[in-house]
Amino acid sequence: MENRESANCSEPSASAAGNDVKQRCWDQREALPGEPRCVICGRYGEYICDETNDDICSVECKRILLDRIAKSQPAVPRPSPVKLPATDECYYVREGNDKSEAGSLSSDQVELLRRKLEISIRGDLVPAPILSFPSCNLPEKLLQNLEVAGFEMPTPVQMQAIPSALIGQNLLVSAETGSGKSGSFLVPIVSYCAKFNADKPHGERKPLAMVLTPTRELCIQVEEQAKLLGKGLPFKTALVVGGDAMAGQLYRIQQGISLIVGTPGRLIDLLAKHDIELDSVSILVLDEVDSMLERGFHEQVMQIFRALSQPQVLMYSATIPKDVQKMANSMVKDLTIIAVGKPNKPTGAVKQVVIWVDSKQKKQKLFDILTSKQHFKPPVVVFVSSRIGADLLSEAIGITTGIKAVSIHGEKSMKERREILKSFLVGEVLVIVATGVLGRGIDLLHVKQVIVFDMPNSIKEYVHQIGRASRLGEEGSAMAFVNEENKNLFRDLVQILKSSGAAVPRELANSRYTFGSSTNKGQKKRKYGL
Ligand code: AMP
Repeated sequence: MENRESANCSEPSASAAGNDVKQRCWDQREALPGEPRCVICGRYGEYICDETNDDICSVECKRILLDRIAKSQPAVPRPSPVKLPATDECYYVREGNDKSEAGSLSSDQVELLRRKLEISIRGDLVPAPILSFPSCNLPEKLLQNLEVAGFEMPTPVQMQAIPSALIGQNLLVSAETGSGKSGSFLVPIVSYCAKFNADKPHGERKPLAMVLTPTRELCIQVEEQAKLLGKGLPFKTALVVGGDAMAGQLYRIQQGISLIVGTPGRLIDLLAKHDIELDSVSILVLDEVDSMLERGFHEQVMQIFRALSQPQVLMYSATIPKDVQKMANSMVKDLTIIAVGKPNKPTGAVKQVVIWVDSKQKKQKLFDILTSKQHFKPPVVVFVSSRIGADLLSEAIGITTGIKAVSIHGEKSMKERREILKSFLVGEVLVIVATGVLGRGIDLLHVKQVIVFDMPNSIKEYVHQIGRASRLGEEGSAMAFVNEENKNLFRDLVQILKSSGAAVPRELANSRYTFGSSTNKGQKKRKYGL
C-alpha cells in the first residue's frame, strides 16, 4: 500500500509524510469532489494498493479488497499455449524483451491465416499473428489478468496488432467498432511497463506510455481496462481529463505512474502549468486517430507528440480516411498498416434500418418505436446532434411514453456524466439520449439497439454511432432517421447500406443528391467541353 505522498511502503505502519496510516475505514475522512475514492467504501482514497493499483482509504479496506479478489480468482488451470510450427517470422522482439516462446507458422500458413481472419497488412517485417496470449512472452500476472477479464483468445485485431506492437513497430490499425482494439494496445503497454519497472523502486518510475482519446468517457473506459490488465504488476495509471480537479490528477502522476490516459486539451493544460517529465514515454497511442488528427484536436495532438522523444506510435480507428493515413505516414518512419475486415465499414453484426421521416415527425416516430413491443429493445441509445436537443428529447420521452430516459452531453459535469452512465449501465434507466460524447469507442454493455435521431455530420460518425449496438460481433440493430436535411450524406449512406445488404428507402434511392457526384461530373464535362 502506498501513501499518495510517498511511494514505497508495502504494508506500512506510517507514511513517509509522517502521518499514521489509517488502519480503520472510519478513521478516514470523506473524499472531497475530484479526490480519489476508496474502491471499497468510497471515503478518501489516500493510498494506492500495491497489489491491485486501486485507490483505498485504509489498511482495513485493503484487506477487504484483497479478500474479495482472492475469492473471485478462477480455480481452473490456464490452458497451455497453442504450439505452432516454426519459422523465423515470429522472432522479432522489442529490444530488451525475451523471445516469443511459441514457434511460428510458415509464410504460406501465415498468409492463409491472415486471409481467414480478414487481416491485411502493409509494411516490412510484420510478425505473424498470434493465436493465443501465452505465445508472446507476456508477464505471467498479465496472462492471469487477461483470463480473469474473460479474454480467452485474442480477437483478430489483437492477433496481429499485439505482436507487431511488442516488437516496437509504429502502427496504423483499422478494425470495426467493438472488435477489441483497446486490448490490442493495452496488452503491449502493460507488458512493456511491467517488464521495464520490474526492478525499479517505486520512486524512480516515470510515465512510459500515453493514450490519447477524444472523449472523457472513452479515457475513463480505457483507464479502467488498463487497471484491470495491470493489476498486481508494477504498473499504475493516471487519468487526465477535463471536469475533474487538476490537482488530483497531477498528484497521481507524481506517484510514479506508468501510463497516462487523457484528452489532449486537459493534458496540454497540465503540461503548460506543471513540469512533468515525459522523456521516458516510449509508446504513444492515438485512439480514434481520425478524430484526433482532425481540425480541433490536430494541433494539440501534435504539440504533445513533439514534447515526447520519438515514441513508438500506435494509431487506431474503425474509420481511417486517406488524408489521415497520409498524416500518420508523415508523423512516423516505417509505418505498419494493419486492416482487419473491410475498412471504414460498419460492423456487419448491426442490422441497419434507415427510415425516411420528416423532421417534424421524428419525435412521434421515436415515441412509436419506444412504445412498440416489437421494436423497442432496451437498453437503447438515442443519438442527437445538440446538447439542448438531448435534454429536451429525454424529458419528452419521459413525459410522453413514461419510460425513464436520461441525457448525456459535454455540458454536464464529469461527476454527473459518471452517475448518468452508471444508472444506464446498471439498468436503472432504459433510454439514454446522447450527443457525440458516447459516439466513439464506448463499450455500452448490453446495448443492442441504437436510434440515430439526428444524423451526424459525417458518415464516419454514423459508422461509430451504430457500432455502439454491438460488441465483439454480438448482434444488434440500428435505426436511423433520414430526410432531405441530410442530403450531404446520401451518397455515402447509400453506399454503406448497399455494401451491408441493408434496404435503401425509396426516397433516398431516388434522390438526386444520392447521385451527386455523377451529376457534378456531368456538369464539369459540359463546362470544359469534354
Ligand atoms: P473494444 O473494441 O476494445 O472496445 O472491446 C470490445 C469489448 O470486447 C470490450 O468489452 C472488451 O472488454 C471485450 N474484449 C476485448 N478483447 C477481448 C478478448 N480477447 N476476449 C474477450 N473479450 C474481449
